This record gives sequence, structure tokens and C-alpha cells, in this order.
Amino acid sequence: MNSMYGKVALITGATSGIGKASAIEFSKQGATVVLAGRRESEGEAVTKEIRDAGGEAMFIKTDVADEEQIKALVEKTVATYGRLDVAFNNAGVEGEFNIKTAEQTVEHYQQVFDINVKGVLLSMKHEIPAMLEHGGGAIINTASVVGSIGIAGAGVYVASKHAVLGLTKTAALEYAQQKIRVNAISPGGIETEMFQRAAGTPEEKSQGRQYFTSLHPVGRLGTPEEIANAVVFLASPGASFITGANLLADGGWTVQ
Ligand code: NAD
Repeated sequence: MNSMYGKVALITGATSGIGKASAIEFSKQGATVVLAGRRESEGEAVTKEIRDAGGEAMFIKTDVADEEQIKALVEKTVATYGRLDVAFNNAGVEGEFNIKTAEQTVEHYQQVFDINVKGVLLSMKHEIPAMLEHGGGAIINTASVVGSIGIAGAGVYVASKHAVLGLTKTAALEYAQQKIRVNAISPGGIETEMFQRAAGTPEEKSQGRQYFTSLHPVGRLGTPEEIANAVVFLASPGASFITGANLLADGGWTVQ
């Protein structure tokens, strides 16, 4: 327990779902937590929850598609807490599902890639120099099962998560000697706001939920807390020999 004691952890997309659960878990494990996201009231509410439980946390309103805002996020983190040890680059959007390749648009591609791919690239660009200042760190990027397999009608989202794995492997190679480990977490279907949107309209939801559940050999969807546990492990000293990995936390979806 408290494997993150004394560490400063930055989490993007921390206002809900996997990011929120991870912020809470990092704090439980002893880390000082910086929460980043676009939604101020949600971000402040999670921050208060962490502080009320005795943790140290700060919310910084940030759009990860904007380089100046990411730069300011990292600068404020270091100015406030003196260092950056862990970054969980988790903010993401699913875009539109049920669009076949021949119907995709440049606007849709840009909307999803700006956040899911450019956001991860720019986050690492500004986090890495801050980590190097204090001898290294750990980065975890959120990919998805669909970073490893396809899903019909979701080509843009699928491609964006494949790209996250490419950025992760590359950065892992580039900074291995400087003691920055870079890994990806690839969740299966997780009960979050995003999953609820992707599962369809209220009328379609029970059907969508049944379909997605059936893809998981464990017979259920995952929880944000189950992903948070895997992320904290990847950030912890227990994962000291793991870099460039893609940890599939998907209830067995991709081994069928
Ligand atoms: P979510 O919608 O609850 O969380 C996504 C978070 O990212 C939200 O808080 C949102 O406000 C934030 N965000 C979106 N665009 C942003 C931007 N430009 N700048 C800053 N923050 C932004 O859903 P989630 O399921 O917790 O998603 C977290 C990550 O997990 C995403 O990258 C998603 O692609 C990935 N993922 C989710 C699932 C699933 O089934 N839920 C499966 C695989 C991967």
C-alpha cells in the first residue's frame, strides 16, 4: 500500500470515468494528484472528494488539444508541487460510431485525432522534460482494445487508438535509458459516460449493452476502478521492468 507515497501524478480527463477513478486511486496510494480536464465543476468536485478523504489534489482546467494549455498545465504542476513523477494521459473522445469508411469526413477525423492522438503526443512532449528534471518517471497512455483490433463503423476512433500505441512504443524506446517508462492501458468495455454514449440511444441501450457484454468472456463489463488499479500498477515501482507494453484490461475480449 501507499506505493505512490511522495509522487506527483498528473491525470488528464480526470473529471469522469476512468480518469476520475484513477485520480482517487492514485491519491489512496499516497500520490499528490493534479487533475486536468475541460469541465470545471466536475473537476473541482473530484478534487474536493480527494481532499475530503485526506489527500492532496488540484484541478487545472485544460483542453488537451491546445498545446499552450498543456504547457501551462505542466508548468503549474511543477511550480506548485516541485516535480512531476507520473502522467496518465487518458483524455479521449469516441467520436461518431456506425460510420463506414466510405462515409467518413475530414471534420470527424480531425475532431477525434486532435484529442486522442495530438493530445497524447503534446502531453508527453511537455511532461517528459519535467520528468527528466528529477531523474525519470512513468507515463501511461489510454489506448483501448480497439488499439489492437478493428470494430466496424468506428474507423476513426480505432485508428486513433492504434496511433496511441505507436506513440507509446516510440517514446518508450526514446527515454528508456533516462528512466522514463512509457506504457499503454487498453480497456475493454468499461461502465463510463463514454460507454453509455457509444452503446447507443436510450431505446438501443439495452441491446447495445448486451452486445458489448457478450464480447467479454468474463461475462460482464469492467469498472473504472478495475482500470485504475491496473494504471496505478503500471506507474508503481512494481512495474519497474515494464516499458513499451500494452496492458489489455479487457476481460478476455481480444484473446478469443
Ligand atoms: P469519459 O467520457 O467518462 O472520460 C473521458 C474524459 O476525457 C472526460 O472527462 C472528458 O471530459 C475528457 N476529455 C475529452 N476531451 C478532452 C479534451 N480535449 N481535453 C481534456 N479532457 C477531455 O469516458 P472514459 O471511458 O472514462 O474514457 C477515458 C479514456 O478511456 C478515453 O481515452 C477512452 O477512449 C478510453 N476507453 C474507454 C473505454 C470504455 O469502454 N469506456 C474503452 C476503451 C478505452
